[in-house]
Amino acid sequence: MQSKKQIAIIGGGIAGLTFARCLTTQEYDIHIFEKKERFEEIGAAISIFPNALCVMDKLQLLQKIIESSGQIKQVYLKTNKGKILSKSEPKSDYPVICIHRADLHGILLENIDANLYNNYALKNISHLDNGQISIQFENGENRIFDAVIGSDGIHSAVRKHIINDGPPIFRGYNIWRGVVKTNFEIGYGSETYGKGQRVGIVPIKNGVYGWWATSNENYMQDDSPEGTKEKLSRLFGDWHSPIPELIKNTETILKNSLTDRKPHKGWTKGNVTLLGDAAHPTTPNLGQGGCVAVEGAYILATSIQKYGLTDKSFERYEELQFPRSENIVNESLKFGKMGQLTNPILIGLRNFAIWAIPSRVAMKMIDKYFSYRVTNLEI
Ligand SMILES: Cc1cc2nc3c(=O)[nH]c(=O)nc-3n(C[C@H](O)[C@H](O)[C@H](O)COP(=O)(O)OP(=O)(O)OC[C@H]3O[C@@H](n4cnc5c(N)ncnc54)[C@H](O)[C@@H]3O)c2cc1C
Repeated sequence: MQSKKQIAIIGGGIAGLTFARCLTTQEYDIHIFEKKERFEEIGAAISIFPNALCVMDKLQLLQKIIESSGQIKQVYLKTNKGKILSKSEPKSDYPVICIHRADLHGILLENIDANLYNNYALKNISHLDNGQISIQFENGENRIFDAVIGSDGIHSAVRKHIINDGPPIFRGYNIWRGVVKTNFEIGYGSETYGKGQRVGIVPIKNGVYGWWATSNENYMQDDSPEGTKEKLSRLFGDWHSPIPELIKNTETILKNSLTDRKPHKGWTKGNVTLLGDAAHPTTPNLGQGGCVAVEGAYILATSIQKYGLTDKSFERYEELQFPRSENIVNESLKFGKMGQLTNPILIGLRNFAIWAIPSRVAMKMIDKYFSYRVTNLEI
């Protein structure tokens, strides 16, 4: 009897776990290596669009995800004084949902058949003459695998091994995020525009909301000595309700600098390939980074199931995944630039355009991202 092939997944985020769930054939043993002490996600919300939910449906996880999430049935775009610039209603065969990242991560983790290793940070990769891959971890262990999937995020060590294109590119603004339980229902998702600043609100469930706020700043600008809450209250305290209340009542606020990378072909070397943010990190302006990671996980796993651990398998994956991810990275960057404008004339023009364009036309412009069904592809 031929023994099973061994696949290592580096990084237990959305991409790595979804890939593990998608790869169902009995030919492979899956091993997921995570550098953190625990397999866990941060305390923030994530929006998941129909283009990723169709994969979750195929994986029989849709119901569980919907039960743990809030649905975004209406989207408002507003000025910081509360003037409504546009109102739209996403319409699709799947809902647009918002879920706590820890809940999504937990659902994926509970529903995979894989060996899990925490405190395993990848250090080095080398290719053996027989095609196998030797991995060295920071904790001193070495292991040999038939294939390695690098789903280790935007700062990917696997990407360094394959592409080596330096650090991610900072795009000139930072983001704060929080999750907060309220005693009121807002009932919609919104994005509000100021001058070089934006705030988004999304419903999770039972009065819990996720929010994010951006501001043009230096890379990882320190909020001290003022303090994060005080600073956010100075920046957003006079914005429309419920923005000040949400920020004020949030216990833990996270801060990131927004970065991405220029799309770069050549994700695979031997049987080592990149997946998710390691392959195509994007700014979050379209809310598509995680969704396109789910699409990629589905394509890669389906391709491996069809063609085995062969060059054809990895080539087909990149052929299908690169153009779409490239488009999302580039468009998201443009949306971010538009959102972070500081010139009053350009801000006026942007707000006028949002107000003047009928919502059905605006929905059509972004529909190509959400109506894509990776599960219908001929892989
Ligand atoms: C502010 C913000 C808001 C966003 N909002 C949305 C949204 O609403 N919708 C959406 O779809 N996407 C959103 N995204 C994007 C989304 O978060 C990412 O695209 C998604 O998390 C990518 O998943 P991943 O598994 O590829 O990478 P990650 O989630 O980064 O997971 C990588 C994993 O690899 C581990 N790791 C790293 N290095 C090593 C190593 N050397 N060895 C072992 N393990 C390692 C990490 O600890 C981590 O667990 C947002 C991103 C940001 C920054």
